[in-house]
Amino acid sequence: MKETKIVLPDKEIPKQWYNIMADMPNLPKPPLHPGTLKPVGPQDLSAIFPMALIEQEVSTQRWIDIPDEVLDIYSLWRPSPLYRAHRLEKALGTPAKIYYKYEGVSPAGSHKPNTSIPQAYYNKKAGIKRIATETGAGQWGSAMALSGSLFGLEVTVYMVKVSYNQKPYRRIAMETWGATVHASPTSVTNSGRKILEADPENPGSLGIAISEAVEDAATHNDTNYALGSVLNHVLLHQTVIGLEAKKQFELAGDYPDVIIGCCGGGSNLGGVSFPFLHDKINGKDLRVIAVEPISCPTLTRGQFRYDFGDTAGLTPLLMMYTLGHDFVPPGIHAGGLRYHADAPLICQLYHDKLIEAVAYGQTAVFEAAITFAKSEGIIPAPETSHAIKAVIDEAVRCKDEGRQRTIFFNLSGHGYLDLTAYADYHSGKLEDYAYPDERIKESLARLPVIG
Ligand SMILES: *Cc1c(COP(=O)(O)O)cnc(C)c1O
Repeated sequence: MKETKIVLPDKEIPKQWYNIMADMPNLPKPPLHPGTLKPVGPQDLSAIFPMALIEQEVSTQRWIDIPDEVLDIYSLWRPSPLYRAHRLEKALGTPAKIYYKYEGVSPAGSHKPNTSIPQAYYNKKAGIKRIATETGAGQWGSAMALSGSLFGLEVTVYMVKVSYNQKPYRRIAMETWGATVHASPTSVTNSGRKILEADPENPGSLGIAISEAVEDAATHNDTNYALGSVLNHVLLHQTVIGLEAKKQFELAGDYPDVIIGCCGGGSNLGGVSFPFLHDKINGKDLRVIAVEPISCPTLTRGQFRYDFGDTAGLTPLLMMYTLGHDFVPPGIHAGGLRYHADAPLICQLYHDKLIEAVAYGQTAVFEAAITFAKSEGIIPAPETSHAIKAVIDEAVRCKDEGRQRTIFFNLSGHGYLDLTAYADYHSGKLEDYAYPDERIKESLARLPVIG
């Protein structure tokens, strides 16, 4: 019998995360304080993060222990299975071998609890009572709500208003796990009120919701902020995916030639690829590809420079490929991955040519998702489907060139709470929209000039 799932026993859950900062040829430039434009110190961050996470943010130690309490909760769904996509290979008629790691098995349905669990743990240990955070479509909010309930923390979620109104199911999931969910922009924070005064119909954005959550955390002593992507410690926690995959590839007697992940902020891509990039940095022949939408083309068309993490300019400036922090994604875009920039770690590695990037329009992405669902069964998240489009293109290229390559991608989450986007695709409502150059230029012209 052909092997379809490569599974590991619970005791094989990695006991340490891998920190790529120990091995990168160039470290990212330091975050800058939004007021002084000087590098931020630990004290600047301690108003909104616990010290354990601040230490991880700047650590260059290669291996970092995963606390037992975190391992205990990871074991609810980890190790996640590695699948060989025999049926997709057959449907494409490709000589390529296709593997995927399935992160949809977590209680929240995506990879995000890999970091929300440790973040909740470290905050609880530091005596924090409440977490304020933002969410777009609701995956991060769900992961944080779940983690809050498991560690006895209150969770307040600022959810982008369009999603709050159009996507009730994740909001209901968050409320089921005990979180309080607000439609952002709200009148609860100064940054929300300012935006509503100027534009009462503002549909919200991830950047605005981040401003609200950061303000909430900074103005309450018992409250911290938590971010679901972008920061170094988030990508660190996600390496549990790639570390498991390495063991699974060893069991399968195989090793990837190409690793593909969708890229919004970069956490699932970093998580799946960093343990393998360790080998690439040490001479292994291997490609890593980030896949993004043409409507939010951060790596492929953004500029590598300092920008804020949020719309209001409350967060430190990070060195990123950015479209400008006041970037507002087009309303017709259904595929997620709408953040205006990417993780500094991903950006530095892309800048140093250790990672490549491609961008696709959403109709091609949904078409790929349907090819996948019809052969492998799982209906993938629209975000994940960007990676699947790139996988299919790579597999077809192998067929055209008559080459057998091993392609590996991260199936970052399932799409069962995103079926409205599929309905829009089925009824022909989705259009491809390449973000206009002039808009990118305008937005970048408003950035502070540094150095
Ligand atoms: C949040 C999310 C993403 C995008 O975030 P990254 O930080 O780029 O990983 C991708 N896929 C799923 C399923 C998500 O929930």
